[in-house]
Amino acid sequence: MVVYSLTKYAGGHSDLMAGGLCGPAHLVSKVVTMRSALGTQLDPHTCWMLMRSLETLQLRFERSASNALRVATFLRDHPRVLTVHYLGFLTDPATRAVFERQCEGAGATFLFEVHGAEAMAFDLLDRLRFCKLAVSLGGTETLVSHPASTTHSGVPRALREQSGVTDGLIRISVGIEHPDDIIGDLSQALM
Ligand SMILES: *Cc1c(COP(=O)(O)O)cnc(C)c1O
Repeated sequence: MVVYSLTKYAGGHSDLMAGGLCGPAHLVSKVVTMRSALGTQLDPHTCWMLMRSLETLQLRFERSASNALRVATFLRDHPRVLTVHYLGFLTDPATRAVFERQCEGAGATFLFEVHGAEAMAFDLLDRLRFCKLAVSLGGTETLVSHPASTTHSGVPRALREQSGVTDGLIRISVGIEHPDDIIGDLSQALM
């Protein structure tokens, strides 16, 4: 069975929270029965928003993924960027083989690290005018966040750094805007 979050790309507009469950009917029906008893059905308005979102899921996903490739390539070639952690750039042959076997694309949410640690990361985030500073991901709009001071601020520094969440690390969820707008904004912010 697969439990899947519909809150991100499937919803796609940062305005709903939902989850999906897929699997053989005889197993799903047990969950449906339990759900009816517990009362955790999704409300009608959210169902309606989700149905509308599903009509454009493929279009949105293709666009955000192609935008992400352009943004990741721009960042990789930028002198103020230390590294870009983007699945499309995997170099280790064994990891790359798994990626190619399992994935049709590299998605649109990835990480990059800037030179100059927290000061430079904050400077960059403060200067963005088009990309929005927010922790969510998978929406139509490009969102950026600083994990070390937000989502991972509760993790002790040593543990954080051990797992690669450094002070210069920035997460970006690339949206469906015109790619030149996203790259132009990052470019002026990285000056
Ligand atoms: C991802 C996210 C959640 C959690 O949603 P799940 O469907 O459990 O992944 C809740 N709130 C916001 C703002 C989120 O971005």
